[in-house]
Amino acid sequence: MNKIQFLNELKKEVEKCQRCPLYKTRTKVVFGTGSVDAKLIIISEAPGHWEDQRGEPFVGAAGKVLNELLESIEIKREDIFIANILKCRPPENRNPQAEEIEVCTPYLERQIEIIKPKVICTLGNYSTKYILEKYGLGNQVQGISKIHGEIFEVKSLFENIKIIPLYHPAVATYNANMKETLKKDFKILEQFK
Ligand code: URA
Repeated sequence: MNKIQFLNELKKEVEKCQRCPLYKTRTKVVFGTGSVDAKLIIISEAPGHWEDQRGEPFVGAAGKVLNELLESIEIKREDIFIANILKCRPPENRNPQAEEIEVCTPYLERQIEIIKPKVICTLGNYSTKYILEKYGLGNQVQGISKIHGEIFEVKSLFENIKIIPLYHPAVATYNANMKETLKKDFKILEQFK
């Protein structure tokens, strides 16, 4: 099987998932979208209302902001991969719970294994904590306001990955001043497209 087939098989599996109670309230699973050959993967938190309706990440208000940020650095959504740590929407968009993250993230891990990105950009506190811990950088975890825009490097025999935590684009939907900070931070990704 090639990378596309592996990813499609995984998608079919996730679409049937009943590992946590979120399957009862979801409309659609949001597996993630983009290129299986992406060098850059963006990992965020969880689907919201519109993502749950459409089965695609970042298609609501935060998605508008994300599109604008990606356009500002001339990155096309289809050239990267965008996914969340949770594949199903938490009711009322509440925060992900520890047990949900625990049972859902093995799917994300398999996505990362198939895609083999060089750069992982995490949006917001939940995905940042999860990814830094996964790569053995748990001691570097701090709130996103402290570490946004830093580049963490993970070097091992098999992989050489950069992890770049950024603010979640939704912050610009309730605080317009944050747009400039986000734009400045997204410039960091330009060199990795
Ligand atoms: N917010 C997220 O964290 N992910 C989405 O897919 C949409 C909004």
